Amino acid sequence: MTKQSEAIYYQVSIKNAHAHLFGVTCTVECPDPRGQIVELPSWIPGSYMIRDFAKNIVTLSASTVTGKLVVNRHGKSSWLIEGCSGPLVIEYEVYSWDLSVRTAYLDQFRGYFNGTSLFLSVKGKESLPCMIEIAQTPELIAKNWSLVTAMRAVEVNRFGFGSYSCENYDELIDHPVEMAQVKEGMFLAEGVRHRVVFSGRTDVDIECVCADLQKICEYQIRFFGPPAPIQDYLFLTLVVGSGYGGLEHRASTSLICNRDDLPRYTDKHISEGYRSFLGLCSHEYFHTWNIKRIKPERFFPYDLSKESHTKLLWVFEGFTSYYDELILLRSGVIEQESYLELLAQSITRMLRGSGRFKQSVSDSSFDAWTKFYKQDENAPNAIVSYYIKGALIALLIDLSIRKETASHSSLDDVMHYLWLEYGQLDIGIGENEMADIIKKATGVDLTTQLENWVSGTEELPLNEFLVEFGVEMVLQPAQSQQDKGGKLINSESCPPPLSLGARYKSSALGIELTHVFDAGSAQLAGLAQGDELIALDGIRLDSDKVESIISHAAEGSVIKVHAFRRDELLQFDLYPVKAPLDTCVLKVIDSVTDRVSKHRSAWLGC
Ligand code: ZN
Repeated sequence: MTKQSEAIYYQVSIKNAHAHLFGVTCTVECPDPRGQIVELPSWIPGSYMIRDFAKNIVTLSASTVTGKLVVNRHGKSSWLIEGCSGPLVIEYEVYSWDLSVRTAYLDQFRGYFNGTSLFLSVKGKESLPCMIEIAQTPELIAKNWSLVTAMRAVEVNRFGFGSYSCENYDELIDHPVEMAQVKEGMFLAEGVRHRVVFSGRTDVDIECVCADLQKICEYQIRFFGPPAPIQDYLFLTLVVGSGYGGLEHRASTSLICNRDDLPRYTDKHISEGYRSFLGLCSHEYFHTWNIKRIKPERFFPYDLSKESHTKLLWVFEGFTSYYDELILLRSGVIEQESYLELLAQSITRMLRGSGRFKQSVSDSSFDAWTKFYKQDENAPNAIVSYYIKGALIALLIDLSIRKETASHSSLDDVMHYLWLEYGQLDIGIGENEMADIIKKATGVDLTTQLENWVSGTEELPLNEFLVEFGVEMVLQPAQSQQDKGGKLINSESCPPPLSLGARYKSSALGIELTHVFDAGSAQLAGLAQGDELIALDGIRLDSDKVESIISHAAEGSVIKVHAFRRDELLQFDLYPVKAPLDTCVLKVIDSVTDRVSKHRSAWLGC
């Protein structure tokens, strides 16, 4: 790579794939002569948990042309290198064995990393341009690996290996890099090139995925208003047997999905799994605007050394979660019935946790670092998701604005306003600014409503709003652990069952309780998370039949439960109580007034 002054140079190599070690060399042309501090971030933007990536640096040494330098520890994620004069070269190895989209992974079949795991920041020089070189060795040629990233290529070969550049450190850590044998597709949306890349074993119908993503991306670019804030976009997906997740970046997203969720050449219809994959893509793509560019004031700039609390994640994750599925409908990828099923499933997820009566969505945002990202067995009883409740508040805001303005305005106008007045201008949103923004964007004052919905813990008035848009919310008991909601049951043929009031998984001897819900039969009987149930009424427990035994017990009867807690065998009296009406179905109301019908058409676009 040709060196220029005033830049930080990084070279990445595969040091030892079997030991999962990347080798990195960082060269600082003009280090701080008083001692140069270098540091790795403690968290990655978009995933609000302290992960201390520096723990994966196994060895680190520094030198100049005159020889080795003394390296001192400076903090949990930083080093102080003294005696720097002239170009400083830091060499280190990074252990990379995490399959998630948040860190780094390396074996003989695949290499992947986020800059937050591999690139040290050079204190005081974070605004300098960065040059990155990843060479294609004979070994990598033999493996037929390609290098895929949204970083700007300076000089690369046809496999993507070579040199790249970034404007500064902030950009450097916002472009994940994949090295593997990949399947690649491409499409244009509003003139912007979009690459769709899969690694991992898959026989995905890539043309089908590209055709669907094209509709979604075109819709979103038009939604915020062209031109798109990207010149090139990359959907980077790792395909695994079982996994789901994604992380947004400024010009790409890194995703993990189930092999079986992807469409194959013989598939004729959109499966539930593929619908959820498209929803994930739509979600991460919407973040290109909403969180990567429209941001809370608290993230200007990011402080990656410690937690950065904001009460606004319900706007960034919640609004994005509302639009990700709505855009599947609006862009014509799914039908209205399918959309209402997805919305009903979101409502169901919120109704399944009594934590919604204890934690506001504003607190949930603020405490994401210690609660949402560190969920334990009591999470359903203690916290509410800023994704799900945030999405349902977005729905209420949308319907409120539509109602007040006879459907002339909507939440769409709020998003446009946020993009024009904040995102495009690099202005952050203040912690208490949302009600003002909605009023400025639409003329509708929702200050009191937001106070209740965002800072309060009362049930959201969903049905009250939905009926005015010709949609009825029906609540029924869950039919099984697998019942996600959205599908109507015939209540006459199927009386409301009783329930265990717990979530569980199969175990060696029966079932193990993973979550015990407030005021459910299990909690009332004194059963706890981790208990292994082995017999009901003296009969060995068949994990497939637990629900049917309990749901068909006579109300008021007692079931003797034998269970192990740790290694002690205990007996409990379980009085099954009625399953809560926590499973939502949304029905389109057939006979509605013209006004309601117009509202519904404007909202759902059909
Ligand atoms: Zn998100």
